[in-house]
Amino acid sequence: MTPRIRPDLATVPAYVPGKTFPGSVKLASNEVTFGPLPSVAAAIADAAASLNRYPDNGMVELTEALAKKLGVTPDNIQTGCGSVSLCQNLITITTTPGDEVLFGWRSFETYPLATRVAGATPVQIPLTGDHTYDLAAMAEAITERTRLIFVCNPNNPTGTIVTADDLVDFLDRVPPEIVVALDEAYIEYVQPSQAQSYDAIELHRRYPNLVVLRTFSKAYGLAGLRVGYAIADPTVIDGLRRVHVPFSVNTLAQAAAVACLAADDELLARTEAVVAERDRVTTCLRDLGYRVADSQANFVWIDLGADALDFAAASIDHGVVIRPFAGDGVRVTVTEAAETDVFLAFAENWARERRAGEHR
Ligand SMILES: *Cc1c(COP(=O)(O)O)cnc(C)c1O
Repeated sequence: MTPRIRPDLATVPAYVPGKTFPGSVKLASNEVTFGPLPSVAAAIADAAASLNRYPDNGMVELTEALAKKLGVTPDNIQTGCGSVSLCQNLITITTTPGDEVLFGWRSFETYPLATRVAGATPVQIPLTGDHTYDLAAMAEAITERTRLIFVCNPNNPTGTIVTADDLVDFLDRVPPEIVVALDEAYIEYVQPSQAQSYDAIELHRRYPNLVVLRTFSKAYGLAGLRVGYAIADPTVIDGLRRVHVPFSVNTLAQAAAVACLAADDELLARTEAVVAERDRVTTCLRDLGYRVADSQANFVWIDLGADALDFAAASIDHGVVIRPFAGDGVRVTVTEAAETDVFLAFAENWARERRAGEHR
């Protein structure tokens, strides 16, 4: 007899992380190129001295620092071992097997996987023609079984954002008992037009079913430490606390996150350079004839259709690792010119070879 494992798990694909090839430029996981600030590294080193002790399970210091920064109370905040664990825990607290979790597609790979791990049913609503979440279609797709809705804004992997009016119209249409998770992993990179401008903290007060998810992995550069947080009504936070795996946010993560918040200005100044670089990369790629979505994140989406896998494989030969999505497109992280220029040189080469091929 082999050990009995839930048979439905056999059909759940494993999460595929971005690849790393030693010596090549990695633009596959939306990381920043910089290591921690000296002040953050020092806080981590200090905290290392007490690693014989369990972490503070309530993450009191970090929770209070976040509450202060965001203008909410600590009972509006729950930290997690990366915001992916909060995505998983939101599914756990809202669904039972057979319930539906709704989200746009293509979007964050974790949503369908975590949904299926919970035994719930993913319902994927295609993006609009310009690769944006189709909130009107999502509102239409709500059923009796819908328990949770993810809105990824900016959307990973397309980088697009919805307008504030569309978001508010959507929240007005969602029945108040259905939880909406607004995943803002890339919020620090957003430079919204007036139409795209909204205040998620303010919205969560107006809509108690709205949960805002944020992370220290992206703009704050702590991807390796695993810490994210949810901002929500205390009823939702209470649910998240009940399923929190004890001590799953570690001591170093708390110390580093608190130090990052203290260095907010310095860290967020770095995002401006990335935003400028994103605009440059987008323009260069479009000039080369690529179809590139309007990104508000630290990556760009290139619509390549059937060429996606070939393009990504060829880029590895040129020393750049990007993230392909078969039959659809590629996502390329934007960091600094020294790295993105390697990618742009490859993209130029590929476009030239394509043109030569067509004219042969
Ligand atoms: C990276 C990312 C996250 C969170 O990552 P963690 O490292 O688990 O905090 C959440 N949502 C989206 C859309 C992401 O791209």
